[in-house]
Amino acid sequence: MAYVTQADRMLIGGELVHASDGAFDESINPATEEVIGRVPRATVADVDAAVTAADAAWPAWAELTPAARGRVLRDFGQALRARAEEILRVEVADTGNTITPMRGDVGVAVDSLDYYAGLIHELKGETIPATHENLHMTVREPYGVVVRIAPFNHPLMFAVARTAAALAAGNAVVVKPPETSPLSAMILAEIARDALPPGVFNIVTGDGRTAGDALVRHPLVKRIAFIGSPATGRAIQRAAADVAVKHVTLELGGKNPLIAFPDTDPEAIADAAIRGMNFSWQGQSCGSTSRLLLHEDIHDRVLSLVIDKVKAIRLGDPQDPATGMGPVNSRMQYDKVLAFFEAAKKDGARLMTGGRRPEGAGFERGFWVEPTVYAGVEPGMRLWQEEVFGPILSVGKWKTFDEAVELANSTEYGLTGAVWSNDINNALRMVRRIRAGHTWVNGCSAHYLGVPFGGMKNSGVGREEGIEEMLSYTETKTINIVLR
Ligand code: NAD
Repeated sequence: MAYVTQADRMLIGGELVHASDGAFDESINPATEEVIGRVPRATVADVDAAVTAADAAWPAWAELTPAARGRVLRDFGQALRARAEEILRVEVADTGNTITPMRGDVGVAVDSLDYYAGLIHELKGETIPATHENLHMTVREPYGVVVRIAPFNHPLMFAVARTAAALAAGNAVVVKPPETSPLSAMILAEIARDALPPGVFNIVTGDGRTAGDALVRHPLVKRIAFIGSPATGRAIQRAAADVAVKHVTLELGGKNPLIAFPDTDPEAIADAAIRGMNFSWQGQSCGSTSRLLLHEDIHDRVLSLVIDKVKAIRLGDPQDPATGMGPVNSRMQYDKVLAFFEAAKKDGARLMTGGRRPEGAGFERGFWVEPTVYAGVEPGMRLWQEEVFGPILSVGKWKTFDEAVELANSTEYGLTGAVWSNDINNALRMVRRIRAGHTWVNGCSAHYLGVPFGGMKNSGVGREEGIEEMLSYTETKTINIVLR
């Protein structure tokens, strides 16, 4: 198969470049296992060049007025929009995510640029009445160079939406896209080269152990923002701490509960359970509500509706607008999902549908697994405790309010949680008891622009997507003006 994009250069200091040693990594389409593009494999010297360029670029960028910096960010968004269709095709081929919902990803990126462009005037300090005779104030200053390391499920969206706040605050950024889905970043490099001053936006591709680790350890990088797995998040904390004192924020995984009370409509719960699983990208979402906790009075009815709906999900070509689910992202993800099928069997979970690779035309090659539901899942099982990051929904049962709270909180994670009830008292009491950073009452899955997102417990450190994220890319300087 031909490459889906010819773009194959990183962005360093305003130049589109290959790796200094000329090495490439190929990227494959997870639906077919065909090679569809290539990206440079950045060396440690390339990483150093990107960070050095960012360090040289940020002071002038930070000195622009809010209006001028905001204009550049908005124009960057418009330039992205102009190539949205091309980005979409490449992203779908490279991730395996289905095309219809993926249409939203460039939109989220552009909206985030607009949002933070509009917030730049909020990078304000304070005056503090510490003494009567003097003046005490704070100003916010950018860190300088911010590193953003991104996962594979929404590569373009994370590379832009999750750097917009850092850019708005006057930092220059270096982005490290995921190694299994890096191609959209090659298009982004071309757009950013034309839209932003040289060195303000840099992209280095390559694997985590080389490029990622070199970024984390670079002495000119104090601020690191990571989205990915808990194990990598902790490795980054360790590596950062090995070399210097750094500010690391982490958006990690989840094993998120959706708790349904008996007063709810079973049909609505079943729909929410499907939506909350994000099957359109194979459940590969940190916020997926992968533990469905049903009150015993509605358990059997909801479970049977969920099974019917999961069976109706149409697997197939992710580029077809009618497709409901594609392949998982990589062989590694595929092997991980199969291992969970084995673990579920061993632990005694009841397989209700799926649990295997689909058969027939179109599924001979590629990383295909069926959307899957297990019932009778309990806290002692791996499926209950561990994030699959795949299309497996686990269903459990509860009887009392306190039991539901305990079940909801019985994992190391605390990213999202959903409560469904028509009784406002139950809903609010429950949502306050859940140890999760982002919750919904009678909702699921959605992120809302400006509303903070992030995890408690081992799901992360810090909050993104709101004003708090922008402020997190600044350091406070106090100025005490001693009057004579
Ligand atoms: P991952 O941790 O394997 O990789 C993420 C990124 O980290 C990649 O770019 C990778 O190259 C890089 N990396 C790997 N090792 C590194 C190292 N030692 N130093 C520096 N960088 C390194 O994660 P993944 O498999 O791509 O993504 C799946 C995970 O991401 C899941 O756990 C999911 O829940 C999480 N996630 C979280 C959020 C959120 O907002 N909380 C959003 C999406 C995904």
